[in-house]
Amino acid sequence: MIDFHSHLDLYPNALQLLSEVAKRNIFTLVVTTSPRAWQATSRLFDSYDNIKVALGMHPEMVERKTNEIEMLVSSISKAKFIGEVGLDGSQSFRESLLLQESVLNKVLAECERQGGRIISIHSRGASSRVLDLLEKYPLAGKPILHWFSGTIQEIRRAVAIGCWFSVGPSMMLGKKGRDLIREMPIDKILPETDGPFVTRENAPLMPWEAFNIVLGLEDLWGMKPDKVRANLQRNFQTILKAG
Ligand code: MN
Repeated sequence: MIDFHSHLDLYPNALQLLSEVAKRNIFTLVVTTSPRAWQATSRLFDSYDNIKVALGMHPEMVERKTNEIEMLVSSISKAKFIGEVGLDGSQSFRESLLLQESVLNKVLAECERQGGRIISIHSRGASSRVLDLLEKYPLAGKPILHWFSGTIQEIRRAVAIGCWFSVGPSMMLGKKGRDLIREMPIDKILPETDGPFVTRENAPLMPWEAFNIVLGLEDLWGMKPDKVRANLQRNFQTILKAG
């Protein structure tokens, strides 16, 4: 099992969970919401080879964390994985969009300068602006659009840019999510949970539950579960090699 977008550090019992996650998952990418959190979490999660901590600054935090922007950019040289970064254009965060854009612009420019990174990207309510920036920095690395919720046209644009996609069980629930997943190349999809923010029956989705997407993908891809699993694992190996 693979979870390519987890907030493992934010589960109430994160430290106790670590060994179970390391055992049950082949790989877990822990995205962080600020460079300081990245620093602290990296230290704590250090002992597991198959749990990696990504350097991030959540777009919802940008306004409160302006004093960490420099640290974010200067730490990119030391981080193999970047995330969660991106833009949030929804009602509550629209006011900081210009600031968010300037941060994402700096991050992508620095990723390009450093030879490319694997980048987990948030794009709620701002898909086309995110795509504009990704087009501006074609050598930023391997952008993974996490829980993409734009339009069909936007997703086609993202595919043309070469984006990857991380998809969680909740995206499978609605028709819109499934229509978007149909547009994603099957060799560019990775499982994610976005837990603990995503819950099921009032409990946070656990990192090993990312693979619940297999059920939905069997249908969409017309494949047996074994094939779906093998395909997701192959994707994961491909992106790690590229990074
Ligand atoms: Mn997230």
